[in-house]
Amino acid sequence: MSTPGQVTIVNVGYRSTNYWVIGVGRSRLLVDLGYPGTMGTMRANLKRMGVPLEEIRYGLATHYHIDHAGLAQELKNAGVALLVLEAQVSAIPLMKAWTKPRDQYLDIAMDNNVTISFAESRAVLGRIGIVGVVAASWRLLRERGATRVYPGHGPVRPMSAELAG
Ligand SMILES: [Zn+2]
Repeated sequence: MSTPGQVTIVNVGYRSTNYWVIGVGRSRLLVDLGYPGTMGTMRANLKRMGVPLEEIRYGLATHYHIDHAGLAQELKNAGVALLVLEAQVSAIPLMKAWTKPRDQYLDIAMDNNVTISFAESRAVLGRIGIVGVVAASWRLLRERGATRVYPGHGPVRPMSAELAG
């Protein structure tokens, strides 16, 4: 395996939810995708943290709840390809049931996502220079020297605390 480039991890989250931008140089992946109707806040936070929206190659929701995937279609409309794991496909249409009209949730179109299997995910991310970050197991992450956990909610914490639990 080639040596991965320097990975940067930046939090562009808001409303007590963390949205992580994992980047290698100008190749970036957004992990978790914002609340519905908050594209303005997302754009402002990206700008504040020095992340050009056009450098985000993929958006990936860890799961299809509105605080993690509510902005997916708006990000797609802004040019961010939505990376969907096969196991997530059936959950996407269900998310709408948890939104209210005032949320201004934009339905996720199903015909223009980048749908891949877990097995493919490492190679797909590897092609944009992001190696072994998302799909790897905790053990593998630890073996590769990961020391901190960047959770969907709450503070960054040491890897060891996660493994002790
Ligand atoms: Zn959540």
